[in-house]
This record gives sequence, structure tokens and C-alpha cells, in this order.
Amino acid sequence: MFEILFSTVIVLVLFVTWRRKRSARQSKDSWSEEPGRSPSTAIIVDRFDEMDRLVRMTRCHCGGRTSVVSEGSKTFDGQRIKVIRADCDECEDELYFFFRTERTLH
Ligand SMILES: [Zn+2]
Repeated sequence: MFEILFSTVIVLVLFVTWRRKRSARQSKDSWSEEPGRSPSTAIIVDRFDEMDRLVRMTRCHCGGRTSVVSEGSKTFDGQRIKVIRADCDECEDELYFFFRTERTLH
């Protein structure tokens, strides 16, 4: 009798763990599909401070706040884009934000 109960608890724990991981993966996938989360969907900004503001306003896929770690540039499809790397304060995931700055006033 104890073995059946123990096995049932093990199966339930595995099922709950699997569902949590699947839910987290789905949240991360849908987060990554939002504008500005890949070079091909880089957000066009008019001012540089818009980038920091947008990153600060954006929550991680887990719901945590983001902190800017670094900024850089890269060429994508013949255009220079700004890349901001941020870390999530909750799950510590590395998050990347992409911006097009060709309209930005210098
Ligand atoms: Zn997070």
C-alpha cells in the first residue's frame, strides 16, 4: 500500500514540475516574439533615452523587473542597430532588446 501511495506522489510531483516548466517555456517564447526582442523586429526610436525607458518599463517573461547591463551595436540587414542587454532581477535571465536609431537626433 505504501509503495502505491509513494509512486502516486512521485508521479504527481513530476507532473506538476513538467507543467511549470512548460508554462515557463511558453511565457519565454511569447515574450521573445514581442517587437524589439530580435534584430528583425527592432523598435525604431527617435531619441536615445527612449531605449532605456522602454527597457526599464518592460518586465521579464517571469514578471521580474529588468536592469540594464550593457549597450552595444551590431549590423543587421545592412543597418546598424543598438542592442541593450539587461538582466532580470528575479530569474536572472539575460534579456536582449533591439532598437533602430536611424531617426535619432544626434
Ligand atoms: Zn525573469
